[in-house]
Amino acid sequence: MLLPINDALTQILAHAENINQYESISIEDALGRTLGEDQISSINVPPADNSAMDGYVISTSEASPDHRTFAVSQIIAAGSIPNPLELNTAARIFTGAEIPENADAVIMQEQCEVDGDKVILPSDIKVGQNIRPKGQDIKAGDTILKKGHCLQPQDIGLLASIGIATISVYRQLKVAILSTGDELVEPGLPLTGGKIYNSNRYLLKSFLKKLHIEVMDIGVVEDTLTETKFSLKKAADADCIISTGGVSVGDEDHVKQAVTELGALDLWRIALKPGKPLAFGNIKNTPFFGLPGNPVSTFLTFLLFVRPFLLILQGQNYQPPLSQMLTADFHTKANPKRQEYLRVKQNAEKLAAFSNQSSGVLSSVTQADGLAVIPIGASIAPGDQVQYLPFSQLF
Ligand code: AMP
Ligand code: MG
Repeated sequence: MLLPINDALTQILAHAENINQYESISIEDALGRTLGEDQISSINVPPADNSAMDGYVISTSEASPDHRTFAVSQIIAAGSIPNPLELNTAARIFTGAEIPENADAVIMQEQCEVDGDKVILPSDIKVGQNIRPKGQDIKAGDTILKKGHCLQPQDIGLLASIGIATISVYRQLKVAILSTGDELVEPGLPLTGGKIYNSNRYLLKSFLKKLHIEVMDIGVVEDTLTETKFSLKKAADADCIISTGGVSVGDEDHVKQAVTELGALDLWRIALKPGKPLAFGNIKNTPFFGLPGNPVSTFLTFLLFVRPFLLILQGQNYQPPLSQMLTADFHTKANPKRQEYLRVKQNAEKLAAFSNQSSGVLSSVTQADGLAVIPIGASIAPGDQVQYLPFSQLF
């Protein structure tokens, strides 16, 4: 009996707990890291009322249609401390400069006429115009970012805007990866008889890099029980282990046996296509994922199961991807046992599926925009509505 995908995910995520370990780092190194504590501002941003324009600043109580000509009593540049505005005068002011005491409006210079050392103002001036009030962006005491937030460029800018230079983040995860398969050759080396290039190793490393996870690369593992156990033991130092290949039912598939002997296998065989033989368990309490060897299966099972697990481990508030319903522009036959994920291209509101959906065809993943989810037993004809998961939602 194959395990339904949602049950598998629920069971797997029940084992996911954040590492609860933190480090202090510079905001310059914090992109993509997960905040370890709420960030509360100790200041107002901006710290004082300031001018939104280059122009003249006055007290509106002194201006009237009959009194529009003012002597210019000071020049206030950004970064300087203004004197209180003298009675019945205007001050020259520039964008970002602090509003002086006694003043309450800025008139943009394009609306003013200069007459020697005087300025003639327009008649229509409103209290507060062109003034950016103190604290309009952030008020002292505001929580600007929450623990568990994955830091984006705008967040780093926001932290800088309240003067924070170092922050507490969850420490980087360390994930061990190993590639099983006697057929594997590394890119850059000649391809000899019977061999194929190892693509999963680089696919996984890249996914982990995107998650800012340190990779412990155990390398390629020979298809023997002894070698598989030896490598898995080495990997158990990490926060999580991911292997590829060797989880199916062939005589050369030793991963399940090795995991069972060293730890525990909690789950195996999911109602999923591609990716049925996914295995999950632990080795000496280090969580273990055995991903199927076909590159598209590795791709899909990583995104559906491993990525959410790792996000939670690194302290993030995991939210399932958002899907949308779009119109199929393809046929599929019903699969009575497994939910299928088809590689599709989106053309406006329609989805075109690649004709070859083999789990070995990685080029279609590169060309696709996302995945169409076909439930167990559903046959799809052109015009049917199908669930679409764009890659932008998945990683
Ligand atoms: P396995 O699960 O070990 O039976 O592998 C399933 C298929 O995936 C086989 O055709 C393997 O050659 C292929 N495969 C396994 N590991 C990799 C890898 N690291 N890179 C590319 N293909 C792989
Ligand atoms: Mg193999």
